[in-house]
Amino acid sequence: MTKLRLAIVGAGPAGIYAADILLKLEKQFDVSIDLFEALPAPYGLVRYGVAPDHPRIKGIITALREVLDRGDIRIFGNVHYGTDITLADLKKHYNAVIFATGAMRDSDLTLPGFDLEGSYGAAEFVSWYDGHPDVPREWPLEAQSIAVIGNGNVALDVARMLVKHPEDLQSTEIPSNVYEGLKRSPVTDVHIFGRRGPAQVKFTPLELRELGELRDVDMILHDEDFDYDDASKNAIATNKQVMVIDRVLQQWRQRETGSASRRLHFHFFARPVELTGVGHVESIRWERTAPDGEGGVVGTGEFRELPVQAVYRAVGYFGSPLDGIPFDERVGVIPNHEGRVLRDDPTSPGQFNEQLPGVYATGWIKRGPVGLIGHTKSDAMETVKHLVNDQGSWWNPAHPEEQAIVELLESRGIQYTDLDGWHALDEHEIALGEPEGRARIKVVPRDEMVKISTAVRQ
Ligand SMILES: Cc1cc2nc3c(=O)[nH]c(=O)nc-3n(C[C@H](O)[C@H](O)[C@H](O)COP(=O)(O)OP(=O)(O)OC[C@H]3O[C@@H](n4cnc5c(N)ncnc54)[C@H](O)[C@@H]3O)c2cc1C
Repeated sequence: MTKLRLAIVGAGPAGIYAADILLKLEKQFDVSIDLFEALPAPYGLVRYGVAPDHPRIKGIITALREVLDRGDIRIFGNVHYGTDITLADLKKHYNAVIFATGAMRDSDLTLPGFDLEGSYGAAEFVSWYDGHPDVPREWPLEAQSIAVIGNGNVALDVARMLVKHPEDLQSTEIPSNVYEGLKRSPVTDVHIFGRRGPAQVKFTPLELRELGELRDVDMILHDEDFDYDDASKNAIATNKQVMVIDRVLQQWRQRETGSASRRLHFHFFARPVELTGVGHVESIRWERTAPDGEGGVVGTGEFRELPVQAVYRAVGYFGSPLDGIPFDERVGVIPNHEGRVLRDDPTSPGQFNEQLPGVYATGWIKRGPVGLIGHTKSDAMETVKHLVNDQGSWWNPAHPEEQAIVELLESRGIQYTDLDGWHALDEHEIALGEPEGRARIKVVPRDEMVKISTAVRQ
């Protein structure tokens, strides 16, 4: 019987779901899968993006772990595609590869003053509070008044983590350095800016409603933002999600304010245009916008300014190019048709038409950084089906033996982590949390993660 030796790069939900789906699919050949992950621990943004005070979502890790624990997928952590292994290596050892490398960096927002100190990308801050090993341990939380730009769930996460009293995060898995950093924060006011109106936000109702439950935080909204035009009224009447969002905001408008020590302000119809300051952010300027009657907005020419000492840009994530693999710079994804990777057309650069044999994509690097973890499952199904149907164009590896890739990594001195290593790290983190009554305390430094994970192999 033919055997498909498959490499998957990226052990976030998309990579793990793709492996799981392929193994369960009825097919005419055997499958053996190796999962390569740049970090010493798996689960991608579920571990390093989802906020620590969202234990229910973090719990998806339990389901992903069950897939890995079945034992029919090998995982090689702490192995970076592009430096530790290359496309030529994969072609030598596998029949095909699926890239599931996600999107980890901030989209650009280039406005005057956005290079001032005190202006941060949300992705950097998220990586810090979620204990990502490759970001600095210290975060400068010195601002009393902070702006968060964006009207999606990441903006809500960032605003919530900034305004929430750290004692209320103590029971979560936040690393000790994050708890200590947040405790020193002098923040009193966090301002969320969105260029459109309340009926056009990208927040989801559950995440928005959660903000209203924060202890000792007043919600500040402005009457002028709720003078709805017909398009907004129609959206509220016909779209259940918009209706719930409006209801939540309207309830907050009725609340008494003035007694809380921290405040969360919502500025709708506010398009940031500039950060001002000498060396460091001192204020944010924005243009007031107005509905254009079709669900969009237009500038009104009226500019406003607010003193803030820090600004967080939560305007989206962006994928990173991978060595030897086509990349669409405009949208930050691997160009593909339903997961089949397409190559650049040499006669018209920027056009991706022809299929690149043996190479597939899934998850955020396939369709861009939108959607919830659940969406990566249907994504993986589509990609895997094409991979299975493409048997005739798979690569023909010279060394498909399972041991060959282990020998290659070892010959290069790569300190890879494996499933037993992840179990060891997991148990270690849980044990660290126990004396404090916490579910776990994350280990942050990469070398410490690798040391704990590889000790079980020695
Ligand atoms: C701040 C934030 C909060 C979120 N909160 C929620 C939420 O509450 N609920 C929800 O459903 N969804 C949430 N999401 C969305 C969810 O995280 C994504 O839908 C999902 O993680 C995308 O999965 P993925 O596997 O494509 O990418 P990722 O999860 O990013 O996984 C990609 C993996 O590939 C690895 N990788 C990258 N490059 C390489 C390389 N060169 N070599 C080897 N490995 C590599 C990465 O280290 C990573 O582990 C959130 C996202 C963000 C950014």
